[in-house]
Amino acid sequence: MDNCIFCMIASGAIPSTSVFEDDDFKVVFDISPAEKGHLLILPKKHAANVTELDADISAKMLILASKLGQAQMKGLGADGFNIVVNTGEAAGQTVMHCHMHVIPRFKDKGSLISWKQGSYEDGEAAAYAEKIKGAL
Ligand code: 5GP
Ligand code: ZN
Repeated sequence: MDNCIFCMIASGAIPSTSVFEDDDFKVVFDISPAEKGHLLILPKKHAANVTELDADISAKMLILASKLGQAQMKGLGADGFNIVVNTGEAAGQTVMHCHMHVIPRFKDKGSLISWKQGSYEDGEAAAYAEKIKGAL
């Protein structure tokens, strides 16, 4: 897609350092990493977000993320990794070309993805469940 920065990176129109590439994906470093080694999996075919991805690409992307995370553990000495897909501006998506973050994590650094933990009133989770089930 014209004017899409991740289409340009995935196609090679903009040069980048890549750790993996095949017919479906290019994997590059995030320009502003949460940790050094933070990777972005870019599907080559443009989709604005994960809801628009072909099912086979979605499945392959998670398998690839797991392999990359294991390579971060083996190659970088990471103790774990986060796999993140922000979807929609409200969820923090800033580049509207679907991508999966794979972030290496280290015990001694203590930086984590976090959120303020809430709670449910009695019966509230069941009401939320009905709304979600009704929309599936
Ligand atoms: P989002 O918030 O949309 O899930 O993540 C977008 C990510 O893309 C951010 O972490 C940001 O640092 C990264 N990013 C934005 N522009 C570029 C770019 O031109 N090149 C690379 N490699 N990463 C980018
Ligand atoms: Zn794109």
